[in-house]
Amino acid sequence: MRLSRYCKIFQDKINSDSVLLFSTRNASKLSIPKNLLKEIESDKLSKEEKNTLTELGFLAKSHEHEKNELLGLMDELNSTNKTFKAIVVMNLDCNLACKYCFEGTRKGKFYMSRETADEFVEFVRNNITSGGLDKINLIFYGGEPLLSIGHIIYISEKLETLCETEGTEYSFSLITNGTLLSPGIAERLKSLGLKSASVTLDGPREVHDIFRPYKTGKRSFDNIFKNVKNVCDIIDIQIGGNFTKDNYMQFPLLLDYLYEEGLSPDKISTVRFDPVINEGEGIMPPDFHDGCNSSDEPWLLEAGLFLREEIIKRGYNTPKITPGICMMELRDNMLINYNGDIYKCPGMISREEYKVGDIRTGVRDYRQSHYLDNWKNEKCLNCEYLPLCFGGCRYMKLVRDGNMDGIDCKKPYLDAALEALVKQDIKYS
Ligand code: SF4
Ligand code: SF4
Repeated sequence: MRLSRYCKIFQDKINSDSVLLFSTRNASKLSIPKNLLKEIESDKLSKEEKNTLTELGFLAKSHEHEKNELLGLMDELNSTNKTFKAIVVMNLDCNLACKYCFEGTRKGKFYMSRETADEFVEFVRNNITSGGLDKINLIFYGGEPLLSIGHIIYISEKLETLCETEGTEYSFSLITNGTLLSPGIAERLKSLGLKSASVTLDGPREVHDIFRPYKTGKRSFDNIFKNVKNVCDIIDIQIGGNFTKDNYMQFPLLLDYLYEEGLSPDKISTVRFDPVINEGEGIMPPDFHDGCNSSDEPWLLEAGLFLREEIIKRGYNTPKITPGICMMELRDNMLINYNGDIYKCPGMISREEYKVGDIRTGVRDYRQSHYLDNWKNEKCLNCEYLPLCFGGCRYMKLVRDGNMDGIDCKKPYLDAALEALVKQDIKYS
């Protein structure tokens, strides 16, 4: 047995005789005496020590063996998966006029029709029967999904009945601007399987209202905040926010305000803040807080670490560092546009050239067009960050270089940020 290739070793600042191990493969952390590290390196551990360290992901039979396991990981995940997951874009319309809205020229009065909703239910039915799935998990998204409340109810009623017949489980969540999320709507949707809503607050009132006014020009913060307060005991609420270089220092004021107004950590399931990435048409969906993007720009690194610490030191949950796998790699994970077109990335909505199929004809083979094997090269296979990165974000590569041919290397970012992120989690755990 030898030390895993996917193990990072950091100096333990509290105890100078120890080092901190972090497994990028399963996110486990362990502080061990320096002499134990020497014993690992010279393969002098007891059987019990070996078993424990292997279970935590710090030891491996050989680097070749680990490499082969990772090479087969996506196939294994796809063959054992039992959950159908889809982001369903109900419309491209919105009642807010956010300054940085990603939909740009793609925005408009485009709504899912009743016919497409029926075809979507049929598509899910076919996926359940052909894939042997036992869970259906949807995220209704937009535009603003609650402008399509009638169709969300329609689809959910049909899927609830379908899942009952098929012996599967149906649940869904919302990515919403929060303006229409009243207690009545939350209760109604909860009865149909709604579990959580991700709502965006772009900083304290004064900052948010500049970035996220109603289309009429009216302020939106107070209304959204009131809704969050009124529904947080009905469904789980995740709060996201988009910051810029000029305003991120003001975001802790939002955290204080949440607390003062009774939205303490036990009332909010997670809080995370992400930068507004704006590169012409290639902007990340601002309300899609899924940690897809990252950047090694110095101010972003500093801002990200600062805000994460402000969140966790107040006791709020924020996503931990865990291996993340791009939706493109997962067969039963996709985005359905309002017209039934299928994409494999939220950043690519309505960009015809990146469509991978539709709900009538199914998903085509997009392995080559979307460069699924971009990380199967010597550089990535020998990289300690592979389980956290898998070649990075193809969409960010597309935004930056105009193509997805190659990797979006996260090494500079992870070299600069990982140790601090791991130590933040330990400090506040
Ligand atoms: S390409 Fe990037 S943005 Fe798109 S789903 Fe994958 S990780 Fe997320
Ligand atoms: S893209 Fe860069 S950080 Fe990611 S696995 Fe490959 S070499 Fe490592």
